[in-house]
Amino acid sequence: MQQLTDIGYVKSILERHGFHFSKALGQNFLINPTVCPKIAEMGNAAEEFGVLEIGTGVGTLTAELAKRASKVVAVELDDRLFPILEETLADYNNVKVIHGDAMKYDLAGLIAEEFAGLRVAVCANLPYYITSPLIMRLLEEKLPIETITVMVQKEAAQRLCAPIGSRESGAVSVAVAYYGQTKTLFQVARGSFMPAPNVDSAVIQITLHKKKPWEVTDEKMFFRMVKAGFSQRRKQLSGVLAGGLSIPKARMQDVFAQAEIPANVRIEALTMEELVRLANALACV
Ligand code: SAM
Repeated sequence: MQQLTDIGYVKSILERHGFHFSKALGQNFLINPTVCPKIAEMGNAAEEFGVLEIGTGVGTLTAELAKRASKVVAVELDDRLFPILEETLADYNNVKVIHGDAMKYDLAGLIAEEFAGLRVAVCANLPYYITSPLIMRLLEEKLPIETITVMVQKEAAQRLCAPIGSRESGAVSVAVAYYGQTKTLFQVARGSFMPAPNVDSAVIQITLHKKKPWEVTDEKMFFRMVKAGFSQRRKQLSGVLAGGLSIPKARMQDVFAQAEIPANVRIEALTMEELVRLANALACV
């Protein structure tokens, strides 16, 4: 099988199948030969793992995952890619590509059916238009996944991995940090893709907490508070929350005192532990 990072080969196969890239589906395929092996190795593609991939393109990352993991199951939305994948993945008998929308597909069912007895990791070069919602879906559904290793746009990587309590953090960084430990693995220049996007990318990894390091008494309240707080991140949090959660201001002062947090603080200055303390105090109102 010819290298899927050989631009000439990929171009010829795409041409033969009359394939044109869809911008709407975030189709920027990896052509830098060093990137996919690195994602596969750092992303837990190994004998004891089943790997879920979102979006195959022509199968460049899929093939690297299949070389290392017991089994790879990929969900791909664009049916025009399937005849191409039949050729490019012909050498691998441990790969299954499912036609579907990763935002809607029953991933819990897929994992239970396909990966019984295996540890589970997610590896993908994500279509940029579903980066945050898809990551949130993987986390919120509490799927039995150990790591999520994904290529995302550089700005999204900075947001997702921002330390909680820093100016760069936001509702999505808090949400991701709630479920796991994030880190940026490496940067990828725009020239590593065909066609080249307008921005650089980065590969990030979320290692899901086996046991969460904090106890939130009411998850719904925690996320309502985070959403309301970051909607006006530069304002005093007590005022923002009084309005956003419809709690009288005087009562809100008591909540902040109970959580031992200054009432004039902005949400972006709070650490995860402080956010949890505040949400737990709010849950008692
Ligand atoms: N993994 C390939 C690579 O690295 O070369 C392709 C990555 S490309 C950035 C994103 C892929 O996701 C495309 O193949 C695209 O068709 C697919 N895709 C887009 N939206 C999707 C969705 N909602 N569900 C599943 N796949 C999707």
